[in-house]
Amino acid sequence: MKRVYMDANATTPLLPEVMEAMRPYWIEHFGNASSIHLDGQQAHTAVDRARSVMAEFFNCHDAEVVFNSGGTEGDNTAIFGLLHPGDHFITTSIEHSAILQAAHRMAQHGVETTFVAPSASGLIDPSDILRAIRPETRLISMMLANNETGVLQPVEEVGKIAANTGVFFHIDAVQGAGKVPFDVRRFGCHLLSLSAHKMHGPKGVGAMFVRRGTPIEPLLVGGSHERRQRAGTENVPGIVGLAKAAELAMHSLEDGTITRLAALRDRLEAGVLQLPGTGLNGAHIIACHPERAITDCHPERAERVEGPASSFSDNKPGAPGASHLGTWESTNPVPRTANTTNIWFDNLEGEALVIALDLKGVAVSGGSACHSGATEPSHVLMAMGLDKTRARSSLRFSLMKTATEADVDYVLQVVPEAVNRLRAISPVTTGTLG
Ligand code: PLP
Repeated sequence: MKRVYMDANATTPLLPEVMEAMRPYWIEHFGNASSIHLDGQQAHTAVDRARSVMAEFFNCHDAEVVFNSGGTEGDNTAIFGLLHPGDHFITTSIEHSAILQAAHRMAQHGVETTFVAPSASGLIDPSDILRAIRPETRLISMMLANNETGVLQPVEEVGKIAANTGVFFHIDAVQGAGKVPFDVRRFGCHLLSLSAHKMHGPKGVGAMFVRRGTPIEPLLVGGSHERRQRAGTENVPGIVGLAKAAELAMHSLEDGTITRLAALRDRLEAGVLQLPGTGLNGAHIIACHPERAITDCHPERAERVEGPASSFSDNKPGAPGASHLGTWESTNPVPRTANTTNIWFDNLEGEALVIALDLKGVAVSGGSACHSGATEPSHVLMAMGLDKTRARSSLRFSLMKTATEADVDYVLQVVPEAVNRLRAISPVTTGTLG
């Protein structure tokens, strides 16, 4: 049976070039990068080369690149490494659990966190971040791209706020890697985390940008690796693979791959949305009228606004001091990563659709893969104001950069069949999932 993998936000396969780059470092050049003999020096040189590639990828100095085990470690390091009892931390309610759970742990150590909510379109408003800042705020952490909706967050604006208020700024850039250009100077961040396996690199390896002079305590201690910022023998094949994946990602940002991917995603999205009882999460332009309660500002109930755009008013869900009635309006298209679409399907259970599609050879996700198996609906979609039934009926399609027209054709063939069959055998009506 044909298999079509549309779960790239969960993970991606190695590209053959990445595999080839890594190959010599498993057996032939197996040395420990800390050893002074030739075998060690070969490994050390490979790590140095990889560091330079990552510095180019981030637009930073080589000395500002720290190799680690991936996104979770980078996110945890930013929080555990910078915050102390009595500090205040600002993040958003749509972050990955690597941030959210670290924040919850810090609550037990005297760090209070403000979780800024998104609008119904999935965007965080930088002015909400600004309003949350207190004299004791030490760190802001915000994602570059949301893993479930692909919505790109206004990191540059938040970077400016952090600079003006003297607060450290960390970006979880895991889902932006290889999809949008990185420039840590432009982003204005002190710290940035990424993971190789989301951009066709190996699992269990990543890198962090740590701006020179950022007083971060290492999570792991033991050796002098990574300028004492991350102890542990370097994962040389993994680091080489990460750098190769980053190099290829930089090419794809320039050679039209991302534009082609966006066109494929758009065709897929438009095709799926032909089905009755479907809609987009975190993409379309919405307006919420003053007489409607904020809680009523769900994408499907809000008005679609065509045409180019203005900006959000301040008065919207999650904004401290916002009134319960919304004057929330946007004519700005919501920026998204090129590969992601998140779609709700009325009258069915998302998990059932994930399984039905899997049986037809199509891999998608009913939320964040890191939460699969959990029965709770997506915290991201809930934060955007969806009710539980609608959140649970939502599916994320995330295309790999190697996706083809034939992949989209196949998915557009099997999705309507599966949806119609599920709706016929076990309809789920609004509110039935609590
Ligand atoms: N941050 C985001 C936004 C993610 O999507 C993920 C993984 O899904 C992570 C962090 C964790 O990254 P890793 O799998 O490398 O630990």
